[in-house]
Amino acid sequence: MTLAYDECPSCGRRWTLPRTGCPSCGAEPRRCASAGLGTVAAVSVVHPSSGDPYVLVLVDLDDGVRAMGRGAPGLAVGHRVRARPDAGIPTFRAD
Ligand SMILES: [Zn+2]
Repeated sequence: MTLAYDECPSCGRRWTLPRTGCPSCGAEPRRCASAGLGTVAAVSVVHPSSGDPYVLVLVDLDDGVRAMGRGAPGLAVGHRVRARPDAGIPTFRAD
């Protein structure tokens, strides 16, 4: 899975969740591929009612957007990470 974000060709705003129009000006966005490099902004350990715990991270991508994904164990705020291809949501590991 390639990490992607939307960019507004009119005002330049960027975001990660797909939308049909720019939230600032309404223009039709274009989908852009991210290199997947960024810095961890938040870390949470999720304990589901069934199954093993897992790590969720918010990452400030170098592209100027914040993305959510799974994180490798041991990540902390401020760590530099890279998104790895995965079948589902992106997985971030130390770069
Ligand atoms: Zn716009």
